[in-house]
Amino acid sequence: MLEVKNIETLYGLIMALRGVSLQLEEHKITAILGSNGAGKSTLIKTIMGMLDDQPDKGTIELDGKRIDRKDTEDIVRMGLAFVPEGREVFNELTVLENLQMGAYTRSSAEAKKDIEWIFTLFPRLKERIKQLAGTLSGGEQQMVAIARALMMHPRILFLDEPSLGLSPLLTKEIFATIKQINQEAGTTILLVEQNANMALSVCHRGYVMENGRFVLDGTPEALMADKDVQEFYLGVK
Ligand code: ATP
Repeated sequence: MLEVKNIETLYGLIMALRGVSLQLEEHKITAILGSNGAGKSTLIKTIMGMLDDQPDKGTIELDGKRIDRKDTEDIVRMGLAFVPEGREVFNELTVLENLQMGAYTRSSAEAKKDIEWIFTLFPRLKERIKQLAGTLSGGEQQMVAIARALMMHPRILFLDEPSLGLSPLLTKEIFATIKQINQEAGTTILLVEQNANMALSVCHRGYVMENGRFVLDGTPEALMADKDVQEFYLGVK
């Protein structure tokens, strides 16, 4: 599966990742917790090959083969899909067209089968199949963004702050669906979240990132029992 070894990522002179190592467990959900600016998004962007000439140091391997410094396009074709923060959808396209845009690497028969499954995950999108994505609510746009990534039939799904800007109820709904995707399709998921409570409720393993480094990792139960995690991330007094 995916193995990140000791990577460093720079923005000019600023070191955003300072020696990060991570091994994703296949068919499991891994969560990365951390406050604003900890480097969580930078880690996903580095893995996806979205930052020029990064990582500066270290390696990223998929099934034992180096993928660092490859083009994003190639990385997507290897089965890695990314849902960026801020639910980017094609506003001027309908829900269905947005989903079809996600299927460019697939045959139409395969895509058709997936779309039926995706509509069981997001029945609300099925009801709005012809609606322009720009006119959907924030929560529905997040569903479109996740659904579009699923149309690629990814081996690994990267989700950057899926709960950002959503109501508590919708956040709960999105997280239940994330769990369902993992259970029904076996998709390996890496989730980056500031909402530690939600992330720890669905993940199999969690990592805590501070200032470009992992400072703690463990099972969700172990992290929830950790005094620092409780105080700084779970809001327990
Ligand atoms: P957030 O949840 O706010 O997105 P994050 O943990 O994902 O936080 P990153 O976005 O990865 O954090 O940012 C890590 C550090 O790198 C921050 O100090 C940020 O200011 C810096 N950074 C991010 N993007 C750039 C950029 N394009 N140019 C320069 N510095 C950047």
